[in-house]
Amino acid sequence: MNEASSLLSVKGVGEKSRKVFEKAGIYTVGDLLHYYPRDYETYEEITPIGEIYQKDVVALYAEVAAPMTVRRKGRLTILSGVLRDESGTLQATWFNMPYLKNTLLPGKRFVFRGKITRKRQQMFLEQPAVFPMETYEASRKEIQPLYSLTEGLTNKMIGKAVREALAHTQLEKEYLPEEIRKTYHLAEYNFALEEIHFPKDQIHMLQARHRLVFDEFLLFILAVRQLKDHRDQVQPSFLLKESPVTDRVIEGLPFPLTNAQRKVWAELCHDLTSDEVASRLIQGDVGSGKTILAFLALVLAAANGCQGAMMVPTEVLAKQHYESLQELLKSQKLPYQAELLTGSMTAKEKREAYERIQNQTSSIIIGTHALIQEKVEYSSLAVVITDEQHRFGVRQREALGQKGTRPHTIVMSATPIPRTLAVIIYGDLDISILDELPANRLPIKNCVVDTSFREKSYQFIERQVSMGHQAYVICPMVEESEAMEAENVIEYAEKLKERLPSSIRVEFLHGKMKPAQKNEIMERFLQNEIQVLVSTTVVEVGVNVPNATVMMIENAERFGLAQLHQLRGRVGRGSSQSYCIFMHSTDSKKTQKRLEILNHSNDGFYIAEEDLKLRGPGDLFGIRQSGILDFKLGDVFQDADILKEASDAAGFLMEKSDKFLKKDGALYKKVMKSMNSEDGTLNL
Ligand code: ADP
Ligand code: MG
Repeated sequence: MNEASSLLSVKGVGEKSRKVFEKAGIYTVGDLLHYYPRDYETYEEITPIGEIYQKDVVALYAEVAAPMTVRRKGRLTILSGVLRDESGTLQATWFNMPYLKNTLLPGKRFVFRGKITRKRQQMFLEQPAVFPMETYEASRKEIQPLYSLTEGLTNKMIGKAVREALAHTQLEKEYLPEEIRKTYHLAEYNFALEEIHFPKDQIHMLQARHRLVFDEFLLFILAVRQLKDHRDQVQPSFLLKESPVTDRVIEGLPFPLTNAQRKVWAELCHDLTSDEVASRLIQGDVGSGKTILAFLALVLAAANGCQGAMMVPTEVLAKQHYESLQELLKSQKLPYQAELLTGSMTAKEKREAYERIQNQTSSIIIGTHALIQEKVEYSSLAVVITDEQHRFGVRQREALGQKGTRPHTIVMSATPIPRTLAVIIYGDLDISILDELPANRLPIKNCVVDTSFREKSYQFIERQVSMGHQAYVICPMVEESEAMEAENVIEYAEKLKERLPSSIRVEFLHGKMKPAQKNEIMERFLQNEIQVLVSTTVVEVGVNVPNATVMMIENAERFGLAQLHQLRGRVGRGSSQSYCIFMHSTDSKKTQKRLEILNHSNDGFYIAEEDLKLRGPGDLFGIRQSGILDFKLGDVFQDADILKEASDAAGFLMEKSDKFLKKDGALYKKVMKSMNSEDGTLNL
């Protein structure tokens, strides 16, 4: 068995569990071994039920007091029962695990370990893990990995499979040159891979992590430089010329472009009309007006008789962009046909769209991943734009690139990365920065409050709605599973519906909904048929409803600053005063200090810098900056030091490339492999 072997070769993984693993993106033994823990924990001592008051997570040694009961609630089955020890009793519940009923027979004694939740003055043990006493005692001596879970996938399943795989896999040989390992004090690859899952102690864990993060960064940087190198000499398939059409479009807009937009458009024009294939990253804070620049680039392609395509991460966003583009084409009487291509279209609709794309009837194409389906054939793809790029893997972007043989590529990102980091990460890649918001914007007013202000916040939302505006409420995340998260949003929306007058329409949005459902909800929100949208972070990316003026974020302490800033960016997009309420439920001073940064600034670049300063090496596994260059373990902010080292190492290796980066060498192969993986996010 080696890293390329199928998951089925791991003992204990059968057809059924394989499907569950695949949902989490784990197809091979290698995928499994590189599915790193998101955190670790050590098991607690056993606590008597009578003493659980102040605790968050507890382990009880208790007896099942009576037969368990099973009931259904929506798509959930809930198993519940009473546990008892000498000091008291406690109610416990499990979601979607009805089969546990056969194990938890009255009178049997187990260790139950789980979170204590409090509802209506009562305490519950939620979703506790169940162990025989001996197993629990043995596990207490180890550091336990905690993995990210998806539906059906449990921590136990992953841990067991990883253990099995580590024991029987022929691991990859060390591929880093000895010199590099010595200079940067890096642990050996195999050691790192084992210890990241089951560390002997804290020190081993840190060594393992350091090595793997270094690898992620190094491979990424080498890949960026390799790609950049061979792109430079490439001629585009279609040569574009500047066109008076784009100038007319700019003049016809209902607003003047900001100076930053003008500058970046000039840079884009230069790129797109050059005789070298361009790849440019446009970084602009939320609301800085990136979309119109993308449209201009697409229009330029169309005006040259070619095609332009824009790929976005969600259907909601695709639809929204498509509609604003249609509006632009119509109001400015431009003769180009736009096409929307998404996964939820019917087979017939897709077939017709493919045909219009192939015979050049449609010259501007906007869509999701559907844009890179094999069946789509472009007749003259000259420009490819990806919006909110961090959600795409390399493979998808490359595939889109290949559709038009050699199109110019533009990547737009709302994730502000401080200059110092950007230079390290992108090397000499072309970057444009939109560092100015349109002038008609009033700065968003912020407040950081605790949950005692919830009622006041609702009143505030009510008032804003009565003035004709709309609001978003972001529900706390539930880490355990998406199903529970969905349930959570629905419940919250129901409560809010009861609380607000019936004239205010409240709806919800979550990741588990079908694209068509999500589209419908967003469409109705856009039309102001819905006034309050309760949502998970799915609204984080790109959506534009300028009439929304309130963003209320529950459990703000659970999110990274960059993500909070993204969420806040959903408001303040029109000319009315907008507000953001960061609500937290924590006494931690440190957390409050973090949130204060947002309270005082609406500038994404500043926030990113401050966030970087505030985070010490202590919280390696704390809040991840979701959205910033998605590495598996590495975090460009947190691990800025390692990033710098990896960048130095990359420079050294490139300089001596005939020695270290020979085409048949292990390191070179590794770089090529990482370029083709789904998860390394290569921003080109
Ligand atoms: P983002 O950079 O976050 O993608 P958008 O492109 O969605 O931002 O723009 C946000 C809003 O600002 C849109 O409603 C857009 O029409 C408007 N907008 C863009 N440029 C300007 C400008 N120069 N002046 C005023 N409004 C603008
Ligand atoms: Mg956008």
